[in-house]
Amino acid sequence: MTLLLATRSRHKAREVERILAEVGDAGFRLVTLDDVSIPWSDTEESLEPFETFEENAASKAGYFALRSGLPTVADDSGLEVLALNGRPGVRTKRFAPPGRYPGLTRDEANNRHLLDSLGGVPSPDRGARYVCVACFIDPANGNTASFRGEAGGRILVEPRGSGGFGYDPIFLDVRTGRSYAQLSPGEKDEQSHRGQAFRALAAFLRT
Ligand code: IMP
Repeated sequence: MTLLLATRSRHKAREVERILAEVGDAGFRLVTLDDVSIPWSDTEESLEPFETFEENAASKAGYFALRSGLPTVADDSGLEVLALNGRPGVRTKRFAPPGRYPGLTRDEANNRHLLDSLGGVPSPDRGARYVCVACFIDPANGNTASFRGEAGGRILVEPRGSGGFGYDPIFLDVRTGRSYAQLSPGEKDEQSHRGQAFRALAAFLRT
């Protein structure tokens, strides 16, 4: 089976390719949107309007399954911070208000905004979790399945490390005392939300 990995994020794609390579042959060949020459379209900006990761992942997977005609998997992911009542949640990618942090990249602005939002909150109260939902859709028969992974941690008071992407420099892995940006790729995959979700997907596809 050819399985389309429907993401425009090269960071996510690299992680998913690595995680699935590590689980070995699960009976599919992974291809990307570039591999199947699906050009970017404005519609993609409005594919994640929902209040749950499950609905947003299904929306993205359904859209690209229709465009490609291929069995497709899409991931919706984000960060839930306890002191912010679960925010930014499904709005994680667009957490920093537009224009608030001129000169910073989107990831830098998001990290800065999260640190500002938690200003004065002491370390024990900075609990958070990463969530990833991988949704699989086979357009040939309408089969759909989704897999959720969650990884607990704590938001640091300043960034540490240069690996990973997104919020990794400020997300503390409590077990090792290192940020996700200080973990090796293998260490991150072993416990990450994405590692859990995509290993569950691979087990499902193998059966
Ligand atoms: P999505 O593309 O709508 O799923 O947005 C995901 C958001 O969560 C982006 O802001 C990512 O940077 C962030 N995110 C998801 N997974 C990770 C991760 O593994 N590390 C750091 N940030 C992540």
